Amino acid sequence: MDSVGTGRARVSRLFAAYAAVSLVGVLALGGVLLQTSRQQADQRGLLQAGDEATLIGSTGISPLLDGKPLALGLSADERAALSRHVNAVVADGRVLRLRLRGLDGRAVYSSAGGKLDVPVDDEALDAASGEDVARLTTFDGDTVPGGGVRAVEAYQPLSAGPDGRRVGVLEVYLPYDRIATDIAKAQRLQTTVLGVGLLVLWLLLLAVTGSVTRRLRRQVAANAFLAMHDALTGMPNRAQFTEDARSAVAAATAELSTVVALVDLDRFKEVNDTLGHAIGDRLLVTLGARLTAAVREGDLVARLGGDEFGIVLPGLRNLGEAAEVLGRVRSALAEPLVIDDLPLSVEASVGFASAPSDGTDLDVLLAEADVAMYVAKRRHLGVVHHTPQHDRYDATRLRLVAELGDAINRGELVLHYQPKTDLRTGRVTAVEALVRWQHPERGLLFPDSFLPAVEQTDLVEPLTRWVLRTATLALADLDPTGTLVVAVNVSARSLGRGDFAEEVLAVLADTGTDPGRVILEITETALLADPTRAAVTLGALTAAGVRISIDDFGAGQTSLGYLADLPVSELKIDKAFVLAMHSEPRNAAIVRSVIDLGHNLGFSVTAEGVETSEALADLTAANCDLVQGYYLGRPVPLELIKAQLVDRAVVATRD
Ligand code: C2E
Ligand code: CA
Ligand code: CA
Repeated sequence: MDSVGTGRARVSRLFAAYAAVSLVGVLALGGVLLQTSRQQADQRGLLQAGDEATLIGSTGISPLLDGKPLALGLSADERAALSRHVNAVVADGRVLRLRLRGLDGRAVYSSAGGKLDVPVDDEALDAASGEDVARLTTFDGDTVPGGGVRAVEAYQPLSAGPDGRRVGVLEVYLPYDRIATDIAKAQRLQTTVLGVGLLVLWLLLLAVTGSVTRRLRRQVAANAFLAMHDALTGMPNRAQFTEDARSAVAAATAELSTVVALVDLDRFKEVNDTLGHAIGDRLLVTLGARLTAAVREGDLVARLGGDEFGIVLPGLRNLGEAAEVLGRVRSALAEPLVIDDLPLSVEASVGFASAPSDGTDLDVLLAEADVAMYVAKRRHLGVVHHTPQHDRYDATRLRLVAELGDAINRGELVLHYQPKTDLRTGRVTAVEALVRWQHPERGLLFPDSFLPAVEQTDLVEPLTRWVLRTATLALADLDPTGTLVVAVNVSARSLGRGDFAEEVLAVLADTGTDPGRVILEITETALLADPTRAAVTLGALTAAGVRISIDDFGAGQTSLGYLADLPVSELKIDKAFVLAMHSEPRNAAIVRSVIDLGHNLGFSVTAEGVETSEALADLTAANCDLVQGYYLGRPVPLELIKAQLVDRAVVATRD
């Protein structure tokens, strides 16, 4: 919300600045226009004065002249008539002074007070040759000492007589103020129109810009919304969730705790795969709305991606409140719904962790909630609060889980390889790939320190993919043309994915690996988690030639009869039995009977954890097929296993 606020404020400030700058611009433009129009006004004043002078000449003076050139002098009649007329116009103020000149420019007549011995000026000569001249001047009237009035001095050619011949020049001083008053009146009108026009223009500009600004402001808000929201459902997205969850976790106290919960829809993938994405999308939108409606005011529900949702519940007085809200969430999701006439039902698994009691670091809390969600899903428990009893994963382990995603990308994982030896021939027929994490601070980590926690989360999938890819590439390096087999461990969670078989086969195709040279080791508990799905997945894998081994056999309570129905080719006796064969006769008996049973069901039997020559001898006697253990070879890095295989002539030397 904050960034939207500042975005809006910025837009408003921009608008204010724009209004100010454009006002200055409009005012400057107005100033320039006013200045120009003033200059034009003076021009118009002169023109008007010229017209008035022409009128005086043609209607007042010319009719009084007989048509002789004025340079020859005026007759007494003419003079008398002129004086009468001129005195009248001077008296009523229309004219300040009037002179007549001959075509040679010399004055022959002047109204009262005007001299006759004036110089022959250029304007007079210009008028004599037919031009109209008018200019602004200050009229001292030859009579007003020390002062003057603004006047227009006009020179006009003067025609007279029956044939209208040019006889001389009329020089007339007209008072400018009367003209100026007229002009000023016109100009005031013009200025008003100009001012109002510019104001309207400015307001229009502001209106247009204002609407653009509003649009921009909406866009800013929309962008901020999109950055923090999921496009499909309009719900807050992972970024918003993380931001809000972090501050809610930071604000949590012993009295008012904050719960972060993860919700995963069961069977959503099936809906999506069988009914199509369009229905899947609508299902997500509907369920998202239900989720949002089910929580309290002030809680946050976000879509984290796929069919996973996150919930932040701040300010809880006890965990019962959280369980109540999350239970409500779960029942809201479980209500039947119909999309396109299809009745659908979705169950959800919810896992949650509470701050500060379960941790104060968001990443740790999320990992805990993820573990709890997985437990809820596995055991069909609905809503599960993370407890340390779920697993032995302390905060350090959970933090490791959080780091593991990057570890894969940073290339911090390595594989070590341990030989599996054929007891009858003594040859190494396979190597088992065992993952290690070269941690930048903690050194080389063995799988038991990070795998159990990772296996509870989705991160195990990229890990399985990475191991498979790396192991098959190693196989091509170790024995490009031979028959060496690589064994890869698969966790229950990977096996539970609907597309696991396709993924494995895609990796094999990609690395150019013959599926017959890969054996996947799967624990019996992994097979039992979802036997129906496991059967389908194993069927697809074995059909392509990949072999399946049941790892840690004997540790669970698998019925051998059930295993007989699965396309399995190897049983691996759990190392606990093998290690204890000598201390506990019971274990030796179990090992022997597993070997027999396995053979009866057509499996090859491998014993792991062979640490001594005695164990090896007993296993040989019991007719075990393959052995694996420190006595025969520890898990070692690729280069070392390569050297060992060459030494033992398992693979041909290449040089
Ligand atoms: P596992 O599949 O039962 O692997 C055999 C484990 O026994 C390995 O431990 C190996 O180092 C150890 N071992 C081998 N020979 C002997 C022996 O003579 N005596 C004793 N005491 N131990 C022996 P590691 O490498 O620590 O692996 C532990 C478990 O981690 C594995 O048990 C397997 O379940 C899992 N794991 C290892 N790598 C992967 C992997 O890439 N993916 C998955 N999903 N799980 C893996
Ligand atoms: Ca194994
Ligand atoms: Ca094992």
